[in-house]
Amino acid sequence: MSYRAGRHFLQIPGPTNVPERVLRAMSKPTIDHRGPEFQALGEELLVAVRDVFRTKRPVVIFPASGSGAWEASLVNCLSPGDRVLMGETGHFATLWKEIAEKLGLQVDWIPGDWRRGVDPQAVESTLAADRAHAIKAVCVVHNETSTGVTSRVPLVRQAIDRARHPALFVVDTISSLGSIDFRHDEWGVDVTVGASQKGLMLPPGLSFNAVSEKALSAHAHATLPRSFWDWGAVLSANENGFFPYTPATNLLYGLQEALAMLREEGLDNVFARHERHAAATRCAAEAWGLEVFCANPEEYSASITAVVMPDGHDADRLREIVLERFDLSLGVGLAKLAGKVFRIGHLGDFNDLSLVGTLAGVEMGLKLAGVPHRVHGVTAAMAELARA
Ligand SMILES: *Cc1c(COP(=O)(O)O)cnc(C)c1O
Repeated sequence: MSYRAGRHFLQIPGPTNVPERVLRAMSKPTIDHRGPEFQALGEELLVAVRDVFRTKRPVVIFPASGSGAWEASLVNCLSPGDRVLMGETGHFATLWKEIAEKLGLQVDWIPGDWRRGVDPQAVESTLAADRAHAIKAVCVVHNETSTGVTSRVPLVRQAIDRARHPALFVVDTISSLGSIDFRHDEWGVDVTVGASQKGLMLPPGLSFNAVSEKALSAHAHATLPRSFWDWGAVLSANENGFFPYTPATNLLYGLQEALAMLREEGLDNVFARHERHAAATRCAAEAWGLEVFCANPEEYSASITAVVMPDGHDADRLREIVLERFDLSLGVGLAKLAGKVFRIGHLGDFNDLSLVGTLAGVEMGLKLAGVPHRVHGVTAAMAELARA
């Protein structure tokens, strides 16, 4: 393909646009990961990273995509045959379930239609019925990236407490961390799973487990096989700022810069910015006359919006057109949503005009693809963004 002028619009819900500051930070030379300069970086970073999880406890960093942190959350706390409770919120919850099953865990699956989050009532009644406390963990995807639905994590916590159940609470925040309010300590989460390439504005390649004291106690007795993912070796090396194996040094430089940027903006402002952009995106969809896939307004995602295509129109055709004509990448419909929805990622390093540009690309694409719609989506989004 020939040179395309201007910046590509990478509006998939991860990886997200990597800001210049982060790219520059990552371009420093790689250093000895056993030397004093690295030690200073490690010591600073391992404390600084806690803020974004809103925890005072250790955060384990893996050189891996988010799937690695998924596996780590399970193998560090659980034993073969353990039961885990999971909710069918979409494609990512389903993938996590498949990992659990491959590892030899038994999954109690709360079925769902993908259009709403985990039902706290269903969690409470399942746990209340488990008098023998055979269920060892409740695993929830905070923000279902495949559907644009955000489960209400504090309500799930309350459900576990009301059932007086000792299960660990494990939450996937891969597409909410650094873009949607999340509080590891305050919400009583035992393991938080995160990754670098979404709200944290980094390239793919780092993933995280924030670990509660209770999760660390479970780790001491859990017997699923673990080696690379073992928190034990990482946490003891981390005490001196080091890692047991070669860390992704340049991504750690990037993480240091991204955390500084989130601190400068302030996490609460970051969350408010994402909510505004999500609201403006929904205004555009409504004005186009297209449906937002999330069925519960209390669970609209602030980081991604999935838009339903009218019957007989293929979302992938629209995605192809906007990529070719406007250099705009939109998220694909995953699994059973293939061709049926397109996803607009509005997370990470993103501002009002990047959103307006994105929505303009979608609106022009709808016209070029012959999708029936009304034309004032971008205008509606602009009116929402320009509200005093
Ligand atoms: C992206 C994503 C994953 C998968 O992460 P990879 O980095 O692709 O392994 C898991 N869960 C959620 C919620 C995600 O958004």
